Amino acid sequence: MRNDTTPHVEPLVLWQNACGGSDLSRRDYQHLIACTDCETLAGEITDALDDIEKALTAGAFTLTLPKAVQVLAHAAKIIAN
Ligand SMILES: [Zn+2]
Repeated sequence: MRNDTTPHVEPLVLWQNACGGSDLSRRDYQHLIACTDCETLAGEITDALDDIEKALTAGAFTLTLPKAVQVLAHAAKIIAN
């Protein structure tokens, strides 16, 4: 029972929020806690950011860059749906 009239939170907004760059609006927050797709994506973004941070610390950014690209591709797919 999914309400398709409710727009997903913009993946870029989730990404910025995960980076601590911006707060979610009330509407986005309420959507996020009710939407499995957005919740999953937010979790994946957080995981990817963790990986990137670890890789930066280790000086091996290129090793996990594909993971970040993977997450963004997944995000694009969700937008398209
Ligand atoms: Zn959603």
